[in-house]
Amino acid sequence: MADSACWLCKKSGNIACSACSTTACSEFHLAAHYTQIQGQEKKCRPIRVEYREGAGNCLVATADIKPGEVILQEYPAVVAPSLVSATVCLECLRNWQGANLCSKCKFPVCNKECEQGTNHKQECSVLALLPTAPTFKPDERSNPAFALIGVIRFLFLQENPDLADRTSLLMDHVDDIKGSPDLLNMWEGTAVQQLVRELPNSKYTKEDVLRAVGVLHTNSVAGMGRGHALYPTFSLTNHSCICNSRFQIYPDRSILLRAQVSIPKGSEITTQYLTPLIGTMPRRQKIRKNWFFSCICDRCADPTEKGTFLSGIICQSCQDIVLPANPLDYETTWKCMKCSVETTGATVQALMNSLQADLDSTDPADFDALQTKRKNWAKVLHQNHYLFLQLKRNILGCLKMLPEARLEQQNRKRLELQVALAEQNIQVFDVLDPGLTILRGRMIQHCNGPKLQLANMDLKNKKISRLEFLQATARSLNNVKIATSCFEDYQQDPSVGSD
Ligand SMILES: [Zn+2]
Ligand SMILES: [Zn+2]
Ligand SMILES: [Zn+2]
Ligand SMILES: [Zn+2]
Ligand SMILES: [Zn+2]
Ligand SMILES: [Zn+2]
Repeated sequence: MADSACWLCKKSGNIACSACSTTACSEFHLAAHYTQIQGQEKKCRPIRVEYREGAGNCLVATADIKPGEVILQEYPAVVAPSLVSATVCLECLRNWQGANLCSKCKFPVCNKECEQGTNHKQECSVLALLPTAPTFKPDERSNPAFALIGVIRFLFLQENPDLADRTSLLMDHVDDIKGSPDLLNMWEGTAVQQLVRELPNSKYTKEDVLRAVGVLHTNSVAGMGRGHALYPTFSLTNHSCICNSRFQIYPDRSILLRAQVSIPKGSEITTQYLTPLIGTMPRRQKIRKNWFFSCICDRCADPTEKGTFLSGIICQSCQDIVLPANPLDYETTWKCMKCSVETTGATVQALMNSLQADLDSTDPADFDALQTKRKNWAKVLHQNHYLFLQLKRNILGCLKMLPEARLEQQNRKRLELQVALAEQNIQVFDVLDPGLTILRGRMIQHCNGPKLQLANMDLKNKKISRLEFLQATARSLNNVKIATSCFEDYQQDPSVGSD
């Protein structure tokens, strides 16, 4: 018996999918049940929306989903410049060279072709009516006038009944924006003032503008180094600090959500809004600032972060580990697990900032400097501390770049170092970011070759048997397969290393 509620909005639904048991209330909501990507077959999405206490509206699996399986792929409803970005062309979002302004609205565009493009057309007529045109410089780091673009594009979307309806399901956290004087002042000054008060005969209210701001702020995703985008279905995926799916944005701006691990039917589908490889204190602060919620998941509530000690620092009195006393308190003190030493969050934060700056200023090709840092940091940080893991990944990257490393492939110590550094990362991923992720794929690539070379040496020195060597070879082949799955939809961000 098919579920008679619409998979998306829960209204009673009597339009059934011909391929699965999903029902929808309207043709629009049935269409949203399918991934429809140009040049690909239309596919049912194995998901439905459910309201769950504590999580709000969330995506739930309607079938068992295998690791690596695609959950959904979709095109954005709105694409706009990011609030903090270099000056860009409003049509193609490429960096603006300073030569051309739109002849009608005086906002930056590359050329006539971009001026008449379909993206810029949306806001051009509105911008052209504003009494004062802002000024733009090509080398600016950000311009408050860019805040208008996403808002206008979102407001235009409301004239399309399908998309207006789809975006009506998204959270806006407008009450949180109103409750934060800094945010409210910023949006009053950059969007409400212009679109409600200055725009002649404006049909928009302050509430309309704040709703647009709120939906975009809460739900849009930065990607491919060009602006940010709002995806109506993907936006229903909640964050979890240990998640089961990961997303990738393609050059055509479609987003693809793929299972990292197996997701049993009926489980919530979750993803990471930010890297899982930072400690609880900075992670929870970022989540609160960007998405207006206080995460209280098992990982956040556990000072050891599931036994990984990702935030652990070494006690200078007894060499045991110092951790946040109550990680769910943003102002918590930090305590040694063994002796009575206590320190403030601010002191720890200052230490992290200085270590991060130290790491950022180290030449990534200077192997000796990185190795010295590794020895020094061992006195200050737990081996699994998130900054320490970053340093270890940097060392692996450095070893890969060194031509010397290739010449000295038989250097046993170096091979063992590569294996150890990569495996320390993988062991933490197993707990905090399990399954098929790009970073896991990279770590496998770093240690797989060295492991096989070590096995080869051991065989020659008769330290292992022929059978053990064959087993090592089989493991290595299996790792190549896993790494390939990890990189399934990975594409180098075109903004990196080009131009
Ligand atoms: Zn519906
Ligand atoms: Zn279906
Ligand atoms: Zn352009
Ligand atoms: Zn224009
Ligand atoms: Zn959490
Ligand atoms: Zn101590």
